[in-house]
Amino acid sequence: MSEMLKNQVAIVTGSARGIGREVAQMFVDHGAKVVITDKDEDLAAEAVTAIREAGGEAISFCGDVTATDFAKNIIHTTIENFGRLDILVNNAGYTADNLVHRLTDEQFQEMLDIHLIAPFRLIREATPYMRDVAKKEIENGVTNYRKIVNVSSMSGVKGNVGQANYAAAKAGLLGLTKTIALEWGQFNINCNSVAFGFIDTRLTRPKEERGSVNGAQVGIPTKVRDAIINKIPQRRAGEAKEAASSIFYLSSPLSNYINGQVHLVNGGSYS
Ligand code: NAD
Repeated sequence: MSEMLKNQVAIVTGSARGIGREVAQMFVDHGAKVVITDKDEDLAAEAVTAIREAGGEAISFCGDVTATDFAKNIIHTTIENFGRLDILVNNAGYTADNLVHRLTDEQFQEMLDIHLIAPFRLIREATPYMRDVAKKEIENGVTNYRKIVNVSSMSGVKGNVGQANYAAAKAGLLGLTKTIALEWGQFNINCNSVAFGFIDTRLTRPKEERGSVNGAQVGIPTKVRDAIINKIPQRRAGEAKEAASSIFYLSSPLSNYINGQVHLVNGGSYS
């Protein structure tokens, strides 16, 4: 176990499974205390148990990240349990695909709520424990870096057929990222985004497996999936752990001079 994140406290949204779960594990492996948060309470509890059994520190705070009081409550719980907040990873998300001529107002709003408004509220609610604490530290000659990583997508960078709602929200998240970087960089708070290409999680598994989130079926038809993978220069999907590594890097002291950037993790694929 390394001590790169020793004494640091992190919130990772959507950390009961997939990329978020790997991020939480990596943070703990490097000495951080983690708040696991997800809609899926049972899975979040399992993650906390596994982390504790391996000697790490974690708590869970479950709920819907889009609820209006979610941000306030999770920040409060984090401070109550751990006394500080150093790293915030806005990762919770899913897709609700439809071609634009069929896309409903509800499907569009749903993607804005989870991918853009929820991260905004969490960042705003973290102000006293990230921005304001850092401001006081700087006045006292202390330098501590804090990190915000917003999980975007290649869809937000280049658009994607069937994902006008998701692409718009993930692109908006890049604007939020760059603005926080401009406003909070002076407080040693680095805010960056990762834009993932095709990462192997339930969102990108064969649709025939019929996974669903919020009543919307997720996954990709096998033929389409194979065609996507065939166009990736590395000819494979990324693993959740590989995706998590990029978030770890942007949450660690290794990236103290990287701010307001969009880090593409796509196996070299722009199509
Ligand atoms: P995943 O489904 O494996 O994990 C996402 C987690 O978020 C789940 O545990 C889910 O319960 C949780 N979640 C969803 N809605 C929530 C809500 N309203 N409140 C609380 N928790 C909620 O998916 P993943 O692939 O690990 O996705 C993680 C992030 O990466 C998402 O933001 C996704 O858009 C982004 N992303 C993924 C890919 C990919 O190829 N998998 C590509 C680009 C971007």
